[in-house]
Amino acid sequence: MQFSTIPGLYELKKQLISAYQRGKVAHAQLFAGRPGTAVLPMALAYASYLMCENKTEEDSCGTCANCVRINKLVHPDIHLHFPKVSAAENKYEKVLAEAIPTFREFVMESPFGDLEAWTRKYGQENKNLLISRQDSRQMLKNVSMRSVEGGFKILLIWIPELMNSSSANAILKILEEPPEKTIYLLASYSYDSLLATITSRTQLVNVPPNSTEEIQSYLESRGVETKNANQSAKLSEGKIGLALHVAEAGESQEYEDFQRWMLECWNRNLTGLVHRSEVFSKSGKAMQKTNLNFAISLIRNAVVHSSGQQLPSQNEAEVSFIGKFADKLGIHKLEKVYELSNEALIHLERNSNPRITHLNLSLDITRVLAS
Ligand SMILES: [Zn+2]
Repeated sequence: MQFSTIPGLYELKKQLISAYQRGKVAHAQLFAGRPGTAVLPMALAYASYLMCENKTEEDSCGTCANCVRINKLVHPDIHLHFPKVSAAENKYEKVLAEAIPTFREFVMESPFGDLEAWTRKYGQENKNLLISRQDSRQMLKNVSMRSVEGGFKILLIWIPELMNSSSANAILKILEEPPEKTIYLLASYSYDSLLATITSRTQLVNVPPNSTEEIQSYLESRGVETKNANQSAKLSEGKIGLALHVAEAGESQEYEDFQRWMLECWNRNLTGLVHRSEVFSKSGKAMQKTNLNFAISLIRNAVVHSSGQQLPSQNEAEVSFIGKFADKLGIHKLEKVYELSNEALIHLERNSNPRITHLNLSLDITRVLAS
């Protein structure tokens, strides 16, 4: 992965390259940003830059033996660690061997994908993935081995917040005192939930969201038609991963579904709402969160509209729907609906029962609309 394949974020790229040029590459770096941002691509582009045999002042070459192998995630001196299903000790090797090819495919197909996208690809939508104690043992093994080719050895830990405290504690010592030419790159979506013992031992590399324009042109460069690219970019709040998902989800299926849902609440269509919560609960954890996130972004747009500010979206149908929706509810009710939806999302993230959570949300919204 090259820096040039990541849209925008020029300051950050410059900062990373300059650290290398000044011989100031910190041995443990924590790339942190929100889910869907360029956290993982940036860490990978940086790894490529460090390893590239023909780097320029702007980027890795993309074609030398190291670049080619890093692109395919098969470089013997780059060790990838990522969330997986938990496994009994004697099954760990098998789980790892099965997950690695899928993970490689996932990163090549969707480097901006977040944990939800990974669980979909991995086919483990109803499991909680983690970086286990066995993974941390594997890391210790990686560190103790000599680099195969004599250059840098890089351990890339994707979503380190999914290490439990025992696996995190197991790697503290190697984080603090790595062997020479060993570099840890951690790529996190939740800086705040990382243990202080980890954050204090790593240098923070803040990966900001992309601008709407950057995301739109990125989507267009991947063949998404302008209108869809524009709408998806605006809904995504700087998260490329989410923008890609929304764009791929098709023109406006999710948006129309949201409309139907709100109408069911409005009409107190209990049968419809019960059925909807059934369908929702069967869609898999990752999809549930994506759908709720999408609804939340539409509701937020309605709040923005209600408060008299310019709507970020230019899609006519959406502006017209949001306008009507906002006018009908008024800012007070909208804010309440927004709050309830966010609470439901938090419950989901804490593994509440999705059917009950969704039905409760629908009923709460129905009450707000009727009040
Ligand atoms: Zn190269």
